[in-house]
Amino acid sequence: MSSPFASGTKIGRYENRSKICEGGMRKVSLAHDKMTPGTKLNWYKMRKLIVIVVTAAVCLGIAHNPQAQNPRYDLLLRNGRIVDGSGSPWYRGDVAIRGDTIVRVAPSIAEPAQRVIDLNDQVIAPGFIDIHTHARRGIFDVPTADNYVRQGVTTLIEGPDGSSPVPLSPFLKRLDALQKSVNIGTFIGQGSVRAAVIGDVNRKPTAEELDKMRALVEQGMKDGAFGLSSGLFYVPGTFTPTDEVVELAKVAARYGGIYISHMRDEATRVVDSVKETIAIGERGGLPTQVTHHKIIGKTNWGKSIITLRLIDEARARGVDATIDQYPYTASSTGIGSALLPAWALEGGREDVLKRLKDPTTRARIKTETIRLIREERGGGDPKNVVIARCEWDASLAGKNLAEVTRLRKMALTIPNAAEAALWLVEKGGCQGVFHAISEADLKRILRDPATMIGSDGEIPIFGQASPHPRSYGTFARVLGMYVRDLKVISLEEAIRKMTSFPAQRLGVLDRGLIRPGMKADIAVFDPARVRDLATFEKPHQYAEGFSFVIVNGQVVFEQGRMTAARPGRVLLRQPKGD
Ligand SMILES: [Zn+2]
Repeated sequence: MSSPFASGTKIGRYENRSKICEGGMRKVSLAHDKMTPGTKLNWYKMRKLIVIVVTAAVCLGIAHNPQAQNPRYDLLLRNGRIVDGSGSPWYRGDVAIRGDTIVRVAPSIAEPAQRVIDLNDQVIAPGFIDIHTHARRGIFDVPTADNYVRQGVTTLIEGPDGSSPVPLSPFLKRLDALQKSVNIGTFIGQGSVRAAVIGDVNRKPTAEELDKMRALVEQGMKDGAFGLSSGLFYVPGTFTPTDEVVELAKVAARYGGIYISHMRDEATRVVDSVKETIAIGERGGLPTQVTHHKIIGKTNWGKSIITLRLIDEARARGVDATIDQYPYTASSTGIGSALLPAWALEGGREDVLKRLKDPTTRARIKTETIRLIREERGGGDPKNVVIARCEWDASLAGKNLAEVTRLRKMALTIPNAAEAALWLVEKGGCQGVFHAISEADLKRILRDPATMIGSDGEIPIFGQASPHPRSYGTFARVLGMYVRDLKVISLEEAIRKMTSFPAQRLGVLDRGLIRPGMKADIAVFDPARVRDLATFEKPHQYAEGFSFVIVNGQVVFEQGRMTAARPGRVLLRQPKGD
């Protein structure tokens, strides 16, 4: 990635050349005036004349070169309301693009361009940067990432929740070779690194194993990861002591990476988990981020008052701690991860099945599952648990746990619902959606200036399965519902949370702002019409209100259609010190 100033320098050089030519042409005419017949040419004068003639030839050549008559810009976006990504109030203006770069921003640009688009007073913003995606679920099937592009997203960051390919480089090479519409980058996942070295077991690593993990994280950072992600809620992250995460965070820190964590607990122990996330940043010596921050379970609602205060206090004492969030009151993960205790999930699937077969162990698990339905992801009612996808039975998608309980011919009680959940796990497990977050916590977290937007989504194959609607709607929902309709935050603040803030967090300093020198990733939308349509019942619906999306200077979406352009690039962390 070049520095934002690189192409500014290029413009400067171009202008200098024009000045030399103007001066040169003046000299040619002066020389002509002095060339009266009979003037004796000495060698010095000869040499001077040659220089002048050559300069004139070069300049005339430029003037007569058909390329020089080409329009000065490749793309000119006129009459937009520029929300530049900095958080400053919008202003009216034109944006000119040459190649993959924004080269000029001004109240009015009159010079010709290859293509001129009149924005008719729509909002023009930097393309959105999604810091938490599971894009590898789908990017190779749908490299146009329509669900993201159609809500203004131009950069997807993969490898969250402690889960990434290990090693990263074959994956990055495959992504690089892929003709794609969006930019993509990745984290290196702590859970995947641990699984590669010691498996999904609940024990501490030996000194030698810890060294191996350090080496894998180091390799990931050298390959270009933006930092270390963890999913301490999941197996095997949940078996990882804080000290071990700190050791790996220190490796990421050496390479200028950040730490981003799906915390150990987002329900009963959410406050402790935020403290742990802050401590890992503080002790690891790197920026730290609570990812998809939420408060799960009715008994925990309101705790965002405490967690946000903890983040504020950490920042006040110099710990660079931040947050990202998706704008929904339901989460999505595996039924097993959400409704079974972590100890029951240790090892492979065979181990889990063995535990469920043993009556005493099964009873212990069920007691915990009942508690998790009552107090945590279950949101106190089996209806709040909705199946998104079961690989072994597509017909279950969209049914809730109350319906599955009845399907199993059991009376609808929470203990029976727990029994139905265990049955789903035994049959092969399912992806679920869990309605257990309060709107008040969501809004409070959204208002915090240290919170950015991240979808936690994936790239669905249109019409298949029943994914969380966040994959289709996150960014449009913030702009339509939380900015325009509910007025929770301003338009400019929302755009900042989607652009310059995540860019700065990742060290991607040539994207995320509408400024000359920045890469031309751009989203154009009508602030009066923008909205998400995807629902939990009907998730496969694209967002509305976007008219143009541009990636690296090329239009990838316009007037309701994806174009044939595939300008997406793999983004790598900037080497430290560069
Ligand atoms: Zn997560």
